[in-house]
Amino acid sequence: AAVPLATVPDPGDRLLGGLLSPDFDDRSCLSRYRAARYRRASRHALSPHLVSALRRYESLHRLCAPGTPAYARALGRLRANASGDGADPSGTRCDYLVWTPNAGLGNRILSIAAGFLYALLTDRVLLLNGSRHEDLDDLFCEPFPGSTWILPPRDFPVRKKLTIDTAESLGSTLGRGEAPGGAPWLYLHLVHNYRTPDRLFFCDDVQTQLRRVPWLVFQADNYFVPGLFLIPRYERELSRMFPRRDAVFHHLGRYLFHPSNTVWGMVTRYHGSYFAKADERLGIQVRTFKWAPISTDDFYGQILKCTHRENILPAVVARAAANTSTGGADGQQAAKRKAVVVVSLHGEYSERLRDLYHEHGTAAGEAVSVFQPTHLGEQHIGDRQQNQKALAEMVLLSFSDVVVTTGVSTFGYVIQGLAGLRPWVLVRPDHGKAPDTPCRLAPTIEPCFHRPPNYDCRTKARGDTGRTVQHIRHCEDFPEGVQLL
Ligand code: GDP
Repeated sequence: AAVPLATVPDPGDRLLGGLLSPDFDDRSCLSRYRAARYRRASRHALSPHLVSALRRYESLHRLCAPGTPAYARALGRLRANASGDGADPSGTRCDYLVWTPNAGLGNRILSIAAGFLYALLTDRVLLLNGSRHEDLDDLFCEPFPGSTWILPPRDFPVRKKLTIDTAESLGSTLGRGEAPGGAPWLYLHLVHNYRTPDRLFFCDDVQTQLRRVPWLVFQADNYFVPGLFLIPRYERELSRMFPRRDAVFHHLGRYLFHPSNTVWGMVTRYHGSYFAKADERLGIQVRTFKWAPISTDDFYGQILKCTHRENILPAVVARAAANTSTGGADGQQAAKRKAVVVVSLHGEYSERLRDLYHEHGTAAGEAVSVFQPTHLGEQHIGDRQQNQKALAEMVLLSFSDVVVTTGVSTFGYVIQGLAGLRPWVLVRPDHGKAPDTPCRLAPTIEPCFHRPPNYDCRTKARGDTGRTVQHIRHCEDFPEGVQLL
């Protein structure tokens, strides 16, 4: 098959090679057109087909967004509990996909991106329902020109808490032996604990039925994009939008997630203090999980072993040797300045690293400075300021030249995706100890879909999603998951 022509954007191109629409006012969202000045230009080809799909989507969104007559009519039908079969007398029919928050910011960003791709494929309008979670406030800019992607909380009649047992879910509907096609709205439970009937979402025949449901509400804590690549009816369109499949989140993430002016203020201040004057920028994301315990000493040792073994950070030398080799005394040689930004909930890793390079010199005389913007101690899901800081740190690290991330962390996936860099991934602990191989260069910049459906739609039996199609493999950092290659 002919592969469509693709373009690599010029460095410093504020519209990112056509990925971004020019139709925005710069001041309402400073980051949108300015991030390109800070970030490395994308090395991942952007297909003209994706660009035209985005422009087409923007027109649809403008036509159907909150505040439009089409939206008012669609809401009216939802309130009246009407199914999607009646044609709209005006001729415009708008179908919606409503995102519901679940889990931490990294998970949320990935699930919004996955939902957006599903909306693109199915001509639905993506709206974010932040009703019970004020934490969407002042976090992101609007991504679509001339309209909003926020569902006004008071508008939406579906107020119940959505869980795996919700009667209106796809899984429950199929479980009762009913066809989902006639419902006025349906809930898609794409959370890690989903069961077989919910997993049928990834089957072609169910997708046919869902086309007739005007409002789909979903919840996901997962990057379910690889699952969409399993569905035959989307194959052709996906291959045109993403002739190379390994940069889906990279493009959609750079398109969708522009930090608000408040968050961008933090990013540029951090950048000015830590990164701006450096010759080389290294971002290290250190995440600990309760399910993968490891002591601080061991994890610190693992980080050092990784960064030294892979020549990411220079080895230190004894004090006396360092004094003669730095070259500063005779003024002959300007040492290379490396800036390291560590992001973590904990302060210990950056403190130890900073002390190491304060107390010792390096053989080639590089000056290594180590910073950490925040160390919040613990995670508070749904706290506005915490989310703002977390987003600012993700965006700052996406300006790095090299990134080291913690395997399995969605926070890390967002960093690598926005950066467009394959990260060095800290391998998860082996029975509470640092593994022999401290880190590996990731095979792709794509995030891992941690809980794939593992269901074979043809045989209607359990299957291994990692072995169904050629370009979807088990993840290196989390073998239970799958990712696009
Ligand atoms: P994951 O749990 O690693 O997959 O990442 P999530 O982003 O989904 O959830 C972790 C949450 O904990 C984040 O959203 C933050 O609120 C917080 N968090 C974790 N690591 C960091 C960090 O390095 N910096 C900041 N500011 N917050 C963090």
